[in-house]
Amino acid sequence: RAKDAGREQFAWFDEQMHRDSVHRVQTEQDLRQALDRDELLVEYQPAFDLRFERISHVEALVRWQHPLRGLVPPLDFIPVAEESGLIQRVGEWVLARAVAQATRWSHIPDLRVWVNVSPHQLADAGLPERLAAQLHRAGLPGDRLGIEVTESALADVSRLAEVLGRIRALGVAIAIDDFGTGYSSLARLNALPVDVIKIDQMFVADLGTARGEAVVAGIVTLAHAIGAEVIAEGVETLPQLTTLSALGVDSACGYLLARPSAPEHLPMTVPAESSFCWRAGMHPSVAR
Ligand code: C2E
Ligand code: MG
Ligand code: MG
Ligand code: MG
Repeated sequence: RAKDAGREQFAWFDEQMHRDSVHRVQTEQDLRQALDRDELLVEYQPAFDLRFERISHVEALVRWQHPLRGLVPPLDFIPVAEESGLIQRVGEWVLARAVAQATRWSHIPDLRVWVNVSPHQLADAGLPERLAAQLHRAGLPGDRLGIEVTESALADVSRLAEVLGRIRALGVAIAIDDFGTGYSSLARLNALPVDVIKIDQMFVADLGTARGEAVVAGIVTLAHAIGAEVIAEGVETLPQLTTLSALGVDSACGYLLARPSAPEHLPMTVPAESSFCWRAGMHPSVAR
């Protein structure tokens, strides 16, 4: 009987795996067409400088307007794109879009548009040249663009440092995304040219406990010691925002401040509610 149950379970796993792989193949096929049919789109989410109450960063986030599935979030197709090699085309497309948008925003002082770049794109030695070509074609100065990278276990650090160095030589800034959740080691961090460290939303969710706050304080100290700026991601509540500010975090983004949106809807000023809270001395009870 136990054997039967085991066999049944295997059959279930089999079926599940089969369904997953069918889904993956389907997604890959659809994604190939999506590129040709122009079904991808980019939304933008601002981060706000906590001291000066102004936009400090804007992140480009890709979405897929699927004809049947609706708006598909990146985590449902970026991994498939990475496995199938389509990530190069998706990545180039997002980059071109972000560069064009940054050019449209060039009248806004000091605004950088940040693009997520996957480990597979970074593994390609041609990336710095293609970035340079995109900037040149658009007539966009490199200091209007930034790339966000996560530390991947695969890339060897000296090669990564070399590629990032060539990208940075264009004036393009480098952010470490989802800091503290991957294979980060302090040795690696020290070997890389880093302008910005993005604190993952997981750590923001842990605020309100002494340990959670100590971790963020530690990241801030470390980042500032290596000359990097700190952005906190995923800020959803006013207490989180005030705590982050008190801990010395430079910028914050999250649903409390602004959701990702079409570029024409990007709020260029700080949302009134949170702005009021900052002026009121960072005390949530005063603001409410
Ligand atoms: P990420 O780069 O860490 O982006 C932040 C994610 O957090 C975004 O999810 C954003 O919509 C979400 N977010 C922002 N504020 C809040 C908040 O207050 N609460 C919560 N719960 N979430 C918030 P999204 O757009 O679904 O993107 C997920 C991930 O997909 C990104 O994480 C990034 O790793 C990847 N991704 C997005 N666009 C691209 C792209 O063009 N290329 C590549 N390679 N990866 C991308
Ligand atoms: Mg990012
Ligand atoms: Mg992140
Ligand atoms: Mg993330």
